[in-house]
Amino acid sequence: MDNVNSTFKVDKRGYYGEFGGAYIPEILHGCIQTLQDNYLKVINDPQFKASFDQLLRDYVGRPSPLYLAKRLSAQYGCKIYLKREDLNHTGAHKINNTIGQILIAQHLGKKRIIAETGAGQHGVATATVCALMGMECIVYMGKTDMERQHANVQKMQMLGATVRPAISGNMTLKDATNEAIRDWCCNPSDTYYIIGSTVGPHPYPDMVARLQSIISEEIKKQLLEKEGCTSPDYLIACVGGGSNAAGTIYHFLDDAAVKIILAEAGGMGVETGLSAATIQLGTTGIIHGSRTLVMQSEDGQIEEPYSISAGLDYPGIGPIHAHLAQVGRAEVIAINDDEAMAAAFELTRLEGIIPAIESAHALGILAKHTFKPSDIVVLTVSGRGDKDMETYIEHMNKDAKQAAQ
Ligand SMILES: *Cc1c(COP(=O)(O)O)cnc(C)c1O
Repeated sequence: MDNVNSTFKVDKRGYYGEFGGAYIPEILHGCIQTLQDNYLKVINDPQFKASFDQLLRDYVGRPSPLYLAKRLSAQYGCKIYLKREDLNHTGAHKINNTIGQILIAQHLGKKRIIAETGAGQHGVATATVCALMGMECIVYMGKTDMERQHANVQKMQMLGATVRPAISGNMTLKDATNEAIRDWCCNPSDTYYIIGSTVGPHPYPDMVARLQSIISEEIKKQLLEKEGCTSPDYLIACVGGGSNAAGTIYHFLDDAAVKIILAEAGGMGVETGLSAATIQLGTTGIIHGSRTLVMQSEDGQIEEPYSISAGLDYPGIGPIHAHLAQVGRAEVIAINDDEAMAAAFELTRLEGIIPAIESAHALGILAKHTFKPSDIVVLTVSGRGDKDMETYIEHMNKDAKQAAQ
């Protein structure tokens, strides 16, 4: 996991080029400093590694398959492998990170876990590992999101977590994040804050990227077995905060022959005002404790993003990805709601795999790019579509109505 000579990984000060850092209230300096001083020691500790590997294997079900999608490949005239994070326990990649962070919290002697959640997926992944470890769990969630994502609230409650509504602002993710930070400020000594993506103050983006890098570690081994090579021509993933993408590309960043294409959520269209395409629409600002691209008004008010996918409508983006886009290491394409929906139905009908709507944005890239027959493309299916069935059914009904007219 070492990266001494990499231009794309975090520097000693916690920056990726001009993005990153740790912009936090004074009272949290001690907590963040402890984490900065210890996270690499813990992650590289043989005992941590043994526990992490064992849980990833026996609890999460890793390695996740690298599946050659033959009918999808034929459709796009190249060789497409799907990295099946949708087959993990709890249905997405998020569990890789929450397992890693709860083990880190235990190493640091913390007793109480807090988290923020938007759509509820990270809240469920956190409540799951807290149940597993028998730890107290408090999840902050915007009141609006609690109403929209009621099934996830019920899951968290069944898992034993306390879900606390955030009732400021629009009562969505950024308000839940503010509440979580406020809680942490009041309880810095016994509480550990599990952040759900490659966002937040340093060292969170690097820590989460390393915990998710199991994805690219496995891709390397699996490609060697299946293709006799260790790197693909293309890597494709969707980006909300950036954790499944960071995990997918981590071990390939310094290999210039591997092209990286990331999908951000275009919503109704980048120009419509209803979008979550942070790379295209964002300007430099501070969000969630780090300097990155942010969707904000001219006077710095954070703008409410929109996407059909609850997991991608985040008004910021991880500093890693802001940097990779700025220096041209990654190409970032906005995929609109309708393009993602079409891609989700295409994968379902061609391969019998119903993807999460987030993952469908990554699939939407395939139609926007031309590939050579010899190209090997690895695309990460970040999660399964069970949670999105209502949206998919609504879309089918709408199509059926239009066809009848
Ligand atoms: C949360 C989520 C995402 C977006 O988060 P990243 O940190 O950008 O990976 C993507 N796909 C699924 C299935 C999710 O649940």
